[in-house]
Amino acid sequence: MNSTYYIDLEEKYGAHNYHPLPVVISKGKGCELWDVEGKKYYDFLSGYSAVNQGHCHPSITSALIEQVNTLTLTSRAFHNDKLGEYEKYITTLLGYDKVLPMNAGAEAVETAIKLARRWAYEKKGIEENKAKIIVCAENFHGRTSTIVSFSTDPSAFSKFGPFMPGFEVIPFNNLAVLEEKLKDNNVAAFLLEPIQGEAGIILPDDGYLSKVRSLCTESNVLMIADEIQTGLCRTGKMLACDHENVKPDILLLGKALSGGTMPISAVLSSDDVMLTIKPGEHGSTFGGNPLACVVATASLKVLVEENLSANAEIMGSLFREKLKTIQSKLLKEIRGKGLMNAIEINHPDPHAAWKICEQFMQNGLLAKPTHGDKIRLTPPLVINEQQINEAVKIIEKSLMTVELA
Ligand SMILES: *Cc1c(COP(=O)(O)O)cnc(C)c1O
Repeated sequence: MNSTYYIDLEEKYGAHNYHPLPVVISKGKGCELWDVEGKKYYDFLSGYSAVNQGHCHPSITSALIEQVNTLTLTSRAFHNDKLGEYEKYITTLLGYDKVLPMNAGAEAVETAIKLARRWAYEKKGIEENKAKIIVCAENFHGRTSTIVSFSTDPSAFSKFGPFMPGFEVIPFNNLAVLEEKLKDNNVAAFLLEPIQGEAGIILPDDGYLSKVRSLCTESNVLMIADEIQTGLCRTGKMLACDHENVKPDILLLGKALSGGTMPISAVLSSDDVMLTIKPGEHGSTFGGNPLACVVATASLKVLVEENLSANAEIMGSLFREKLKTIQSKLLKEIRGKGLMNAIEINHPDPHAAWKICEQFMQNGLLAKPTHGDKIRLTPPLVINEQQINEAVKIIEKSLMTVELA
C-alpha cells in the first residue's frame, strides 16, 4: 500500500481538523522517520516536542511493555503500586511538594485554572466567582472550550463561543502592562509560556521571567508556567524557567513526559495550592494510571541520564550557527534557545513556508509551518553533530531550489 491509499482513507473517514504534509510515516527511531515507501527523513517536529528522547527510545518502550503486561489501569478508586513512587520521583526531581497527574496537556492547563481559582477563594480571599487569570496574546494552551476562550487566534476560537469569562489578555514580554494589571486585587494568577511555541518560537527579553516572578510574588498572584512544550530539556535546561532561576508556583508538563508514547501530563505545585482541592473535587479516569507512571518515570530518567539538556544546548547553538551561514534572501530571521528553534521566511508568496516544508520533505527532512511565515525546527534532543550538519545541508538545498510564486 502506498501513501495515497492511507491519505485517501483519512480524507474519506476522518474529521478534517488537521492539514498534514502529504507523507505517511510508518516507523521511527531516534531522530529519524520512515514513510510507507521506505524513504527516510530527519524529524524536525518531534511530535510538537513530545519526542524529546527520540522515537521509540528503548528504555521507555521496554518500561512500557513490561508494565502493559502487568497492570494498566485501576482508576483512582484504588491505590496502585506505581503512582506513589512516580510522585516521589517527579516532585523530588523538580522541587515541588505535590503533583497532580493528568493526560493531555490541555487537561493540565484546565487543572491549573481550577487550582488558581480555588486558591484565590480559599487563600487569597477573593470573592467567589470574581477571580481573574491574566494570559498573553498569541498564547497556545490547548483546545478545550475554556482554553480557546482566551486564545487570540481566530482559527482557534471563532464560532466556538459562548466563551468562559474570567481571563484578561495582555501582550507577551510586556512588564509594564503586567504590573498595571496586577494592581487589581481580583487577579489570581498569570498564565504564560516561557517561550511562545505555537506563535512561532517567540522569546521574551532576558530578565522577563525573573521580573514576572517578582511581580507575581509582590502581588500575591500565582505564576503558572505552561512548560508543556518548552520543558523537559527542549531549551537546553530541564525547564525554560531554569534559564533565569525562576520557580513558578504552578508548573505544567506534558508532551515529552511520555517520550511521545502516550498522553501524560502533570501539574506541580506547593501544598498550599494543591491541597485546596479535596477528594472528589477534581480528577481523571486515566490520570495517574500505573502504565503512565512507569512511562513518565522512564521518560524523565532518560532526560537526566543522557544529559539531554546539555546536548540540546550544544546542538542548538551549533544548529543556529550553521543556519546563519546559509546565504539565502528567504531567511528573514533565525531564532531559538537550545533545540527550540524557528526560521522566519521573507517572501511575498503567502504559501512560501508551506512550499519550503514540501521541499524539505522532498529532500528528507520533516518540519511544519506555524503562523504562516514561520517554520519550527525542533528535532529530538538525541540528535548529534553529523545529523545537524546533514539537516542544515537539506535546509540549504531546499531554500536554493524551492519555486515560489
Ligand atoms: C501542546 C501544548 C498544549 C496542549 O497539549 P495537548 O496535549 O495537545 O492537549 C498546551 N500548552 C502548550 C504550551 C503546548 O505546546
